[in-house]
Amino acid sequence: MNAADDSGGVRSSVAPRRAALVAASERVEREFERFIRGKGLKLTSQRRRILKRVFGTNRHFTAEEIHEAFRRDRDDVSRATVYRTLSLLVEGGFLDMLELGGDTKRYEHILGREHHDHLMCATCGSVIEFQEPRIEVLQEEVAARHSFRITSHSLRIFGSCKKCVANELAHSAASAVTG
Ligand SMILES: [Zn+2]
Ligand SMILES: [Zn+2]
Repeated sequence: MNAADDSGGVRSSVAPRRAALVAASERVEREFERFIRGKGLKLTSQRRRILKRVFGTNRHFTAEEIHEAFRRDRDDVSRATVYRTLSLLVEGGFLDMLELGGDTKRYEHILGREHHDHLMCATCGSVIEFQEPRIEVLQEEVAARHSFRITSHSLRIFGSCKKCVANELAHSAASAVTG
């Protein structure tokens, strides 16, 4: 129900929710400032603009996509600053990183989001979110069996999305005809 996928649809944004998000993102900005100050770094205006972009989307984005968005807006934020800031955000627990395999990393913010897991297409890189209470319960049961206390989990299922499966089928059908 709370799912957003990356095929263009960010789910309905209701005004009160947006106001809450703005307040929350100001809090994040302060917390992030505190975090990087502890590392001897400053919350520069470039970093502030990166935060705004990152927390203004529910998509699963790559560092390149963020950098590209700045370029499109003729906003001069360097690629190095984007990469560095994203890794600081992950280190501080402000962002989650989803490794797609290879060098591709996608990021998502977890602020104000309900817990969800991911189906990840290894072919086109699309990411589908899902929530499945039965899986959550099963994980608790497995942990309990081992007297294990869960602090967090991240479930990623790799494979091919609907579109890519259809492509593969079309290709193999075509080569069956010609071959
Ligand atoms: Zn795909
Ligand atoms: Zn997600």
